[in-house]
Amino acid sequence: MRTEHSRAQRLAEGVTAVTANELALRLDEATIMITIDPDMPNAALVARVLTTTLRRGPGNLVLVNNRLPTTLIDTIDAATAAIDPTRPIRVATSNPDTSIRVHVGAEAPGHTIRVVPEGCGAHIASTPTARIRPTQPGNALGAIYASALAAAEIFKHTAAVVDDRRVIHRHLRFCPVTLSTNLTRSPALDDVTRLALTLVGIGAIGTAIVLIISELNAEGVLLAVDRQHFALENRGTYSLGGDKDTRTKPWKTDLAKRTLSRFDVTPCNDDIDAVVQRIDAGQAPWHPTVLTALDTPDARRSAQRLWPDRLIDAATGDTMLGLHDHRHGIDPCMACHFPVRTDEPSGVQAVADMLGLSAHLLANGEAILQEAHLTGLLPAQRARLAPHVGSRMCGLARATGLTDLNADGYMPSIPFVSMQAACLAVGRLIASQLNLDVPGNLVQYDSLIGPHQATTETMRIRPGCICVSRATTINQVRTYRRSAAAPLAH
Ligand SMILES: [Zn+2]
Repeated sequence: MRTEHSRAQRLAEGVTAVTANELALRLDEATIMITIDPDMPNAALVARVLTTTLRRGPGNLVLVNNRLPTTLIDTIDAATAAIDPTRPIRVATSNPDTSIRVHVGAEAPGHTIRVVPEGCGAHIASTPTARIRPTQPGNALGAIYASALAAAEIFKHTAAVVDDRRVIHRHLRFCPVTLSTNLTRSPALDDVTRLALTLVGIGAIGTAIVLIISELNAEGVLLAVDRQHFALENRGTYSLGGDKDTRTKPWKTDLAKRTLSRFDVTPCNDDIDAVVQRIDAGQAPWHPTVLTALDTPDARRSAQRLWPDRLIDAATGDTMLGLHDHRHGIDPCMACHFPVRTDEPSGVQAVADMLGLSAHLLANGEAILQEAHLTGLLPAQRARLAPHVGSRMCGLARATGLTDLNADGYMPSIPFVSMQAACLAVGRLIASQLNLDVPGNLVQYDSLIGPHQATTETMRIRPGCICVSRATTINQVRTYRRSAAAPLAH
């Protein structure tokens, strides 16, 4: 197994009954057979996102050519090869003998996982008797949500997830906008959506957000904030970036810019504190809507300092995913959700103290550990770090075996978890654009159990939070930024 796949394996180890070696072998040897009904609306998008998501992980992919259009086969072949040219998808004319079969479409014989988008939501069915009868065509959000649900369903089989950690869906229906199982109420998104957004964090979740927005019938302006370059270890977990990018190492903001062709994208390769300064200096646009896709409570509280009208925070943790939805003056802010604990060090600080490095250095995932950083450390700290000189910081916490501590989400999630979190966040964005009344400012569910068992809570503003104690100043800042942003927006 390649190191870039180790995340999926590590996650799977916690939910399967087999040993790590058996699991690695099982994931590598799994063969997934994909059939497609090319007449289903958005079938090509479901198929492309599903196959590229699967290609980021281990295992063999077979596309069955039941008189598929050549352009569709070529598109899927090229898209998966762009992720990893050394492990191409195999195109077969007959059904190979394999236990895991997925059909992009409503009808397939036998025990086949069927997946169909409807509106912004999706159906997934594993039982032969389930009848999928969509009442409206699926749009791009529905298609990508369908792909992410299908990838999760496949993982339950390939990783042999134990019974009490997963639900095999006989027929699941769910819409990430309305958070309802009634797909007839899911929005169609026929009109062009015009968006003015800031996206903070273009990692596993952020790239999935960019992918979804790029496929929507949408245009507009976007401030893209991320201070890192794409790297090899990102290929297995992100929704953008392929083989070529592992060598050219573009800024993650550049991945967003090149993907969002209908948007005017302003890249900011900096941390959020610097971006806030640039906004207040009139050098970067302030947008009233912010999407965040961040690993740490610290980063979330920093992003809150943009003080937008609405901040939608997508979150993952192991197999869990969810969102925090903040409307200014109505919902809890990120500091309400993630209060600073003064009685104990942050996860990064705890790891940094143990390693003898500064938290600032450790938090800079792109920084390389140098021999000089080891000067003055205790012998045990030196011994622990010495093998990692020349490595990037982002891999360090994992490599030094400190990840069982609260390392503030150093390990990114596997793609289907992040992708479902991104669907929830974009779903909430669509709900806000359409002025839909949707439940909860905190939503979360386990990707191996399913969204039908989501927790949906309406959390209250925390008394004594900065958003209360400094409300007057915050409102002044917001008024200033809104007036300064007005000329920039046109
Ligand atoms: Zn607050």
